[in-house]
Amino acid sequence: MLEQFDRGYVRIDLDAVEHNIDAMYERIDRKSSLILVVKTDAYGHGAVPIAQLAEKKSFVWGFAAATFEEAKHLRECGIEKPILILGYTFPYCYEEMIALDIRPAVFREDTLKELSRTAVEIGKKVKVHIKVDTGMSRIGVYPDEEGLSLIREANKLPGIEIEGVFTHFARADEADKQSALRQYEAFCRFVADAERMLGKPIPVRHCANSAAIMESELACTHMDCVRAGITLYGLWPSDEVNHKAIDLKPVLSLRSRLIYVKEGRIGSGVSYGGTYQITKPIKIATVPLGYGDGYPRSLSNCGYVLIRGRKAPIIGRVCMDQFMVDVTDIPGVSCNDEVILIGADGSERISMEELGNLSGRFNYEFACDLGKRLPRVFYRRESAVAYTDQFSSHLHRL
Ligand SMILES: *Cc1c(COP(=O)(O)O)cnc(C)c1O
Repeated sequence: MLEQFDRGYVRIDLDAVEHNIDAMYERIDRKSSLILVVKTDAYGHGAVPIAQLAEKKSFVWGFAAATFEEAKHLRECGIEKPILILGYTFPYCYEEMIALDIRPAVFREDTLKELSRTAVEIGKKVKVHIKVDTGMSRIGVYPDEEGLSLIREANKLPGIEIEGVFTHFARADEADKQSALRQYEAFCRFVADAERMLGKPIPVRHCANSAAIMESELACTHMDCVRAGITLYGLWPSDEVNHKAIDLKPVLSLRSRLIYVKEGRIGSGVSYGGTYQITKPIKIATVPLGYGDGYPRSLSNCGYVLIRGRKAPIIGRVCMDQFMVDVTDIPGVSCNDEVILIGADGSERISMEELGNLSGRFNYEFACDLGKRLPRVFYRRESAVAYTDQFSSHLHRL
């Protein structure tokens, strides 16, 4: 049935997503809710089916995207919970954004004025989340007079409703939590000052990311909502966090099939540049994926894949659409054998973290960069239920 995916596909286990959402909820305060961070198409996993699954959970407050287009796509696919855009939103889309009830992060006065003008014009309120910089030096107002003045302005302008206030930790994934705790304290002081000035509470205060959800020392930072990103996908924020603190299941695996198996010729090279030279009898198999699929060229001569539950090292350079592996030690290997590039096969497993390390990339980056050319196939109870393809942003049901 699924032969169309034989060249290669990203398998997304929606049961694992659900497990991870529930596992995170277990760790947070009963007064706190989850904001699921599904930016960059859910870190390459496919945002729509994941959001559709989470939409039904009462303890999920809403979703966070990076851009207006991501947020709008979720709305078009039936997502009704709140959606927050974490980054800067450019003015061209304010009208549509307000109509779709999508919340922008705000940290500039000109943004506020333009939002207010547009909201009044279309006769609808815009709910904003004020972004505060407590130590990233990225976006956000400083938690002092500057921030208070922006909040005062937001409170005064017609058409604007201050729904939330948030900040982001720079170092919550490190073993030493001092820096994150200092950011948290600065944020709390600022929020208290702002609320005193407004004479009312700001309903949705949030700062915790995945690392702060997992790590007991940062449990005090959960506030009204936590923003769950990498752990939603069963991946780790870093090597330094306590991997025993939470039971996460990896959501993604990357699979392909061998399309050719042959004896190497002694004296020949393998792939461009002949960086691997054949000096002994070996069996070579070709995998029909490459860096055009986001499988990095830096894995040339150093990565490996799993075939029949055994490791097969990559030999020669990874090409755009193909690469070769040494299958000499794998008995019975033949064309059409399944190849696991990320995931488990028997007792062996290749994790995104390990591939990230081998290729000189960060696990977050590795997931985001898996190419559009690879269909995402979504599974429930071991059955494929939907897939996305390269040329349409819409989900095909199976
Ligand atoms: C990406 C992002 C997150 C999620 O971070 P994780 O480490 O994946 O949990 C949370 N908040 C903001 C502002 C982000 O940009």
